[in-house]
Amino acid sequence: MRIQLPAKVHNIINTLEEAGYEAYAVGGCIRDCVLGRMPDDWDITTSAKPEEIKHLFTRTVDTGIKHGTVTVLLGGEGFEVTTYRIDGAYEDGRHPTEVTFTASLKEDLRRRDFTINAMAYNDRSGLADLYGGLADIEKQVIRCVGEAKERFEEDALRMLRAVRFSAKLGYQIEESTGEAIKALAPNLQKISAERIQVELVKLVTSPHPDYLRTAYELGITAQILPEFDLCMKTPQRHKHHCYNVGEHILHSMLGVEPEKVLRLGMLFHDIGKPQTLTVDPDGTTHNKRHPFEGEKITRKVMRRLKFDNDTIDKVTKLVLYHDYDIVATEAGVRRAVNRMGEDIFAMIFIVRRADIAAQSDYMRKEKLEKIAYIEALYREITARKDAVTLKDLAISGNDLIAEGMPPGRQIGETLSALLERVLDDPSLNTRENLLKLYKEV
Ligand code: ATP
Ligand code: MG
Repeated sequence: MRIQLPAKVHNIINTLEEAGYEAYAVGGCIRDCVLGRMPDDWDITTSAKPEEIKHLFTRTVDTGIKHGTVTVLLGGEGFEVTTYRIDGAYEDGRHPTEVTFTASLKEDLRRRDFTINAMAYNDRSGLADLYGGLADIEKQVIRCVGEAKERFEEDALRMLRAVRFSAKLGYQIEESTGEAIKALAPNLQKISAERIQVELVKLVTSPHPDYLRTAYELGITAQILPEFDLCMKTPQRHKHHCYNVGEHILHSMLGVEPEKVLRLGMLFHDIGKPQTLTVDPDGTTHNKRHPFEGEKITRKVMRRLKFDNDTIDKVTKLVLYHDYDIVATEAGVRRAVNRMGEDIFAMIFIVRRADIAAQSDYMRKEKLEKIAYIEALYREITARKDAVTLKDLAISGNDLIAEGMPPGRQIGETLSALLERVLDDPSLNTRENLLKLYKEV
């Protein structure tokens, strides 16, 4: 098999080989090439030691020198070059207590997680596929290199990574690998929130975010996202619904593009339903005020998983407003934009359509028509540049001070009251008008 390496990768490998070392492109990039996909980044593995790598290239960064990784910079691009290594004993199920460099590519490939990620390539030797990666790509399975139980005992994060790669590629998890996950999932408690967050985001932004179901079935979400397990156990007996809460969430993620905030917004949008469940005498279920409960739960979970504040802010707003009753009039839409903020408001349409697509088809046409109508109103409002926030008002606090109003609370209250009037009737928003009107509000 021949893989077309980018010129810079080729150069790095050549430089190392000319100096008498072995060097290969390795891991995810080779998997992606075999699949005919463009890799995101290229990793190189070599028999050269970090000091030797640094000696051969003019610009390098000590990225993870202890673990043998040096980043080689070529024309503004960085390539991770890592010395062949064996990971020593994993005493805590998290990270190797020591790494040992080795002269053998075979050893280096053996420490990698899955067979499809354990292939290497260079032009001189061709493909090194020592653990059956090609065959597993053919079979479309995720399988551990070696004994699955041992590999997950070494590093529990690999269990979540198995589902993540399954979702990325649409592959099944091979049976003994899946059995080992079922047995060892509780070890995920040892893994840092940051590492879990990375893999969870990759899972939900993949082509198959609904494979989070597999994480549920294997007992992974019970460890890292028990709030979702509750949803999988919460029925929806209501004419608007055809799935339980968890299945509805899984289907709804498929209805938005693979973008982090949107996918997380869908993941959490109904997370407050188990806590707000009520059942009528006839069995019909309701979940009154679930967006408020959902917002709280979402913030708690996202903080636990150490998400950044900006992402938490956006996702919790999507959860809070996903069901917000927007009055289908121009004034109603302006008020909703004012309440949510422009960027969240624009995303709410996407969230609602995905939400509806994952419900029963009862009244679907009417629900979609209402959204389209509100969207059309919103377009007109934006085209006319109607005022929707305080900063859009034709006057500011300084104008009121110039009119003789004392600085302080009264200024803010007056401007807010003026905005209320202007939200109802944008034609009021002229300087002249507002300087008259402020005396009455
Ligand atoms: P992606 O394209 O989604 O980044 P990737 O395969 O490059 O996928 P990375 O997490 O970037 O995944 O890891 C790069 C390579 O390092 C993997 O292909 C695998 O060979 C190895 N690897 C990464 N994490 C682990 C781990 N926890 N245990 C064993 N090997 C790992
Ligand atoms: Mg990668």
